[in-house]
Amino acid sequence: MDRSSPNNDALVPVTATIDLAALRHNVRRLQAEADGADLMAIVKADAYGHGAIPIAEVLQEEGIQHFAVARPSEGVQLRNAGLTGRILVLGAPFPNHLSVYTEHDLDVTVSSFETANAAIEQGRPHAPVRVHVNVDTGMGRIGLSPEEASSVIADLADARGVTLAGIWTHFATADEPESTFADTQLSHFEELLDGLDQGIHPEHIHTANTGALLTIGTRSQRFHAPLVRTGIALYGLTAHRKLHSQLDLRPVMRLRARVTQIKTVAPGTPISYGAHWRAPCRTCIATLGVGYGDGYPRLCSGRASVRIGGEKRPVVGTICMDMCMVDLGPPDQSPAQDVQVGDEAELFGASAPTLYDVAEWAETIPYEICCGISPRVPRRYVDDSTETEAKIAANAPPSHNLS
Ligand SMILES: *Cc1c(COP(=O)(O)O)cnc(C)c1O
Repeated sequence: MDRSSPNNDALVPVTATIDLAALRHNVRRLQAEADGADLMAIVKADAYGHGAIPIAEVLQEEGIQHFAVARPSEGVQLRNAGLTGRILVLGAPFPNHLSVYTEHDLDVTVSSFETANAAIEQGRPHAPVRVHVNVDTGMGRIGLSPEEASSVIADLADARGVTLAGIWTHFATADEPESTFADTQLSHFEELLDGLDQGIHPEHIHTANTGALLTIGTRSQRFHAPLVRTGIALYGLTAHRKLHSQLDLRPVMRLRARVTQIKTVAPGTPISYGAHWRAPCRTCIATLGVGYGDGYPRLCSGRASVRIGGEKRPVVGTICMDMCMVDLGPPDQSPAQDVQVGDEAELFGASAPTLYDVAEWAETIPYEICCGISPRVPRRYVDDSTETEAKIAANAPPSHNLS
């Protein structure tokens, strides 16, 4: 699985380490939690920034047979990499793109009359279009209203060149345990299903995302051949900290950057753009090779801390595109006296600061942080949770022994 180019990656001062053992742990926990339902692993947006192909390969090894992406191009990428499971494209297709789906054996989201008609016209019994009808029960994004959906489902079920692979809906508030709106949505969905002709048998019915699995639980799976569409929890995260404690999940991604320069500055020395921060005393400033161009949000300026030399130290001054600065404190004390150029600082990881911290500093949700780690950051895949701090410690260039 050597997908990185070691020589080039070694020249990059920032690395996202992807812990495949944590991924395996999470998928097993989720499978247990989903009870009778199968998981549909959501690997859109490059598996939330973790790397769609290596993530999907591990999930396939773990027995996952259903995958979902947002766009057909993402599905084609996975097919070209040899993924054999079902792949649903969650986004609304352009009706004239359906041939891409059949060519690459991708399942289509039917969210409009136009797409339904295109599927009926273009599907052939020997090369059926596989459709999942998306019902908008309150998300207000894509999908047919429950009234529209019942006639469309009947037409698709009748069509000889169409396989009714699924009927699904998506919750708007499943991450909020106190909200009753998801229950209302689920009731609309159940009414629709109850009204369908008895002869209609979709392969699967699916409603739950990670939030619904954790907040609504089994009621969202009480259907024929249910699937749980889980994304964020595979990566060891939930929408917010409160939900996290419900499942023993392990964060899969951690972000580390190397110190590229260290200097001791006099009291009053301004640091970074705008000169907003000035050294309060004689102190040691480390420059890290990571910035908002890598997806480390500029809003973290003046709020974030990083783990360096075994301690949490503040990010000071404005975060730049490719660099940011950390105040290590007095030069004759720890950690300043130990830290050297080439050492790694952890921007987020398994212990504080975590990705939740970064999301809070950046006033956003964990999803946006992991999706936003830019493609220029090399991903290093490790498949051994016992990978020790020693291996990633000071001065050691990133190892590229991919297992
Ligand atoms: C992204 C997405 C999911 C996954 O949501 P998580 O909160 O990451 O589990 C499920 N369903 C749909 C329709 C999505 O777009």
